[in-house]
Amino acid sequence: MDVRTFWLAGRPATGDAELTVTNPDDGREVGRVSVPTDAQVEEAVAAAKAVAREAAALPIHVRAEALAHVSRRLAERSDEIAHLITAENGKPIFWARGEVSRAVSTFRFAAEETRRWSGEVQRLDTEPAAAGRMAYVSRVPYGPVLAITPFNFPLNLVAHKVAPAIAVGAPVVVKPAPATPLSSLVLGEILAETELPAGMFSVLPVANERASGLVLDPRLPVVSFTGSAPVGYAIADQVPRKHVTLELGGNAAAVVLADADLDWAARRVALFSNYQAGQSCIAVQRVIVERSVYDDFVARLLPAVAGLVVGDPADEKTQVGPLVSEAAAERVEEWVREAVEGGARVLAGGTRVGATFAPTVLADVPADAKVCREEVFGPVMVLQPVDSVDEAFAAVNDSAYGLQAGVFTRSLDTAFRANRELEVGGVIIGDVPSYRADQMPYGGVKDSGVGREGLRAAMEDLTYEKVMVLTGL
Ligand code: NAD
Repeated sequence: MDVRTFWLAGRPATGDAELTVTNPDDGREVGRVSVPTDAQVEEAVAAAKAVAREAAALPIHVRAEALAHVSRRLAERSDEIAHLITAENGKPIFWARGEVSRAVSTFRFAAEETRRWSGEVQRLDTEPAAAGRMAYVSRVPYGPVLAITPFNFPLNLVAHKVAPAIAVGAPVVVKPAPATPLSSLVLGEILAETELPAGMFSVLPVANERASGLVLDPRLPVVSFTGSAPVGYAIADQVPRKHVTLELGGNAAAVVLADADLDWAARRVALFSNYQAGQSCIAVQRVIVERSVYDDFVARLLPAVAGLVVGDPADEKTQVGPLVSEAAAERVEEWVREAVEGGARVLAGGTRVGATFAPTVLADVPADAKVCREEVFGPVMVLQPVDSVDEAFAAVNDSAYGLQAGVFTRSLDTAFRANRELEVGGVIIGDVPSYRADQMPYGGVKDSGVGREGLRAAMEDLTYEKVMVLTGL
C-alpha cells in the first residue's frame, strides 16, 4: 500500500516513520501515513511564523478564491473522500457523505464571510476632549493557529479550524487524530492547489507527545482544540498565556414535554442517540420525559430504535456502524454493565459484537452511574421521567457539561424559558441537541469548553480588535 505524504508548509513531504490506519469494522489496513521528523515539525512551525505577516495582509479576494476552490474540489471529490472517512472511522457511508457535504458548506461559508470581513470607523468626538479624532477598528489574527482535532468528524472539524483561519489570514498547523488522518491529508492536497502562500498550512500527523511540543511552542499563539475534556483542560493548563479555544465533550439531553409531537420526538431521539454510533459531542445521551407522556413516548421510541439499520458501514442503508475501535466498544459495554449492576433495566440493546455496540435504551439508571454523569460517546441513551418543566430543566442542568440541549415543545413561552434557563451553548427547540448548522455559533459552557466555532464566530475567536486612532481631523 502506498504511503501517504503529509503536508509541510504547503508541499508534500515524507518523514522517517509510518502510521498505519485501520478500518474499525474489520481491522483491515486502509492506509499508511508518513510521520514527520522533529526537524520537519520545526520547519512547519518556522514557516507558519515566517509567513504570518504576509498571511494577515493577503488580499480578501485571494483568501475568498482559495476557500471557494477548496469547497468546489471537496464537492468534486466527495464520493472518494466519503469512502475514505468510512474506511478510517467506521462511520456509515450515509453519514460520511453528509460530513463531506457539510465541509463543502463550511468552506463556502468561509469564502462568503471573508468578503464581509471588514473593520469599522468609530467617531471619537462624542466627547469634547476627543474632538478631531476618530478610530479605525479592525480585527487582526493573534498569529499562527495550532489546530488539534478529534477522530469523530475527521474532515469537517478540521474544516472548522482551517477555513476560518484562512478567512482571517492566519497560518494554520493541523494535528489530526491519529486514528483518522486520511481525510485531513486529502484536504491538505486540495489546499496545496490554491494560491495561498507556502507556510500558510501544514498537516502534521504526529503522535501526541510531539503535539505537546507544538502546544508549548510560542510561535503558535493560538491553540484551537476539539476533543475530550481531560485532554483539552490539560492543554489549557500547559499554556495559560495562550489563546486557547476548547470544543469539548458533553452528555447532551433531549427534553420531551407533554405538548410535544411524540412521533417526531421518538424518531429523532432514536436516530440521534445512535448516529455515528453515538460518537458525537451532541449525541442524545439523556432523554428527559414528562411523566404524563412517558409510556406513550417509550412505546414509540422502542420500535424506532429497533428499526435502525445496524451493520456494515460501507452499505448505503446502514445507519449505525461500529465505534472507532473494539476497545471503545468494550468501554461502553463496561459502563452499561455498571449501570445494570446498580439497578438499571435494559429496554433495548446492551450487546456488543466486536467494535459494534447495539443501540441501547436504559431505564431506572442510578443517578451516579457513568452513563448519566459522564460522556458515553457510544449508542446509549438513558430515560429519565420527570413531573414538571421545572424538574426537566433542572435535570438538564444537573451535568458537568453544557454543550447543547434539545427541547421538544410546541409552546413559544416554554421555548424562551428554555433559552433563559438551560446552561448550555445552544438550545434546539423542536429537535434533538444534535442539530448543528455549520454557520451558526457553536460551543459549550461549563466543562464543554470555552470559545465558539461556526464561521463568523471562529473568525472572531482567532482575532483581536485593534484600534488605530487618527488625530487632527
Ligand atoms: P481526544 O481528546 O482523545 O483527542 C483529541 C485530539 O487531541 C487528537 O488529535 C489527539 O491525538 C490529541 N491529543 C491527545 N493528547 C494530546 C496531548 N497531550 N497534546 C496534544 N494533543 C493531544 O478526543 P477524541 O477521542 O479524538 O474525540 C472525542 C472527543 O471529542 C469527545 O469527548 C467529544 O465530545 C469531543 N468532541 C467535541 C466536539 C465539539 O465541537 N465540542 C466535536 C467533536 C468531538
